[in-house]
Amino acid sequence: MLKIKKEHIEEIKKQGEKGYPYEICGFMLGIIDYEDNIREVKEVYQVENQNKERANDRFEIAPKDYLKVEDYAEKNGIQIIGIYHTHPDHPDRPSQTDLMFAQPDMSYIIMSVNNGKAENWRSWELDLEKNEFKEEKVEVI
Ligand SMILES: [Zn+2]
Repeated sequence: MLKIKKEHIEEIKKQGEKGYPYEICGFMLGIIDYEDNIREVKEVYQVENQNKERANDRFEIAPKDYLKVEDYAEKNGIQIIGIYHTHPDHPDRPSQTDLMFAQPDMSYIIMSVNNGKAENWRSWELDLEKNEFKEEKVEVI
């Protein structure tokens, strides 16, 4: 399950609308309760979408940004718990490409931005047995 503050959702919405018609992306940083399997977001951290040719329907995070954010998280006693990105004029469902790059034990928020307005969003996690995404339960706090 993912726990996220309303203000973080608002922040992602704002970034998504500002970046429209291109996909924006970033990391969710926070803490993990392994016993109850709860990931709790403490910060959202936007990084540049490196895919310039198909930024309207693809996103890519540079290795240097991964390293930078990992380093930042470590220094602040938190960790990378997920990745968020937007789908301009597309539903909040993962694409085949999203599945290809997904890692286990991470939350993937996908936010749909239609005509420049951030609307629906959901969080997804990898179902390792089926090798597909399943919708993750979210608690907005
Ligand atoms: Zn996507």
